[in-house]
Amino acid sequence: MSAIDEVLARNHAFSEGFAHADLQRAPARRIAIVACMDARLDPKDALGLAPGDAHIIRNAGGVVTDDAIRSLVISQRRLGTREIMLIHHTDCGMLNLDEASLAEELAQDAGIEPDFAFHGFANLEGSVRDSMKKLADCPFLPHREAIRGFVYEVESGRLREVI
Ligand code: ZN
Repeated sequence: MSAIDEVLARNHAFSEGFAHADLQRAPARRIAIVACMDARLDPKDALGLAPGDAHIIRNAGGVVTDDAIRSLVISQRRLGTREIMLIHHTDCGMLNLDEASLAEELAQDAGIEPDFAFHGFANLEGSVRDSMKKLADCPFLPHREAIRGFVYEVESGRLREVI
């Protein structure tokens, strides 16, 4: 049985007792979270969120890419969120990523150069600050007064705010 088949079986059980059919589309807590995709970081558990509470936008690194901004624009302008929380984490795979060798690997395997950046970073807190600044400077986002950045410690489960 593949991993996907296993989780499909769990979804079957989940849907049997489904109790969230009445949730509104707009997040109840009016918060959007940009977080790394790391499997050890579960924002819902770590932050005590329930279904319907928040938008969670995830990618490798929790980086503010153009696509993350696209989602935040929809989140704020169409779905009512007001606060943005950024979450990077310790032991991230994007820390000190060798982008040149990864680009070379792609070029060798695929025969073409990737037309996107990997957005690796050398400094965890620095990357959180860069991401906060990018959001604070983004003219497409109408609500930039409540942008806060954090490092999640995979060793302790604690969130550390980056000032
Ligand atoms: Zn990560």
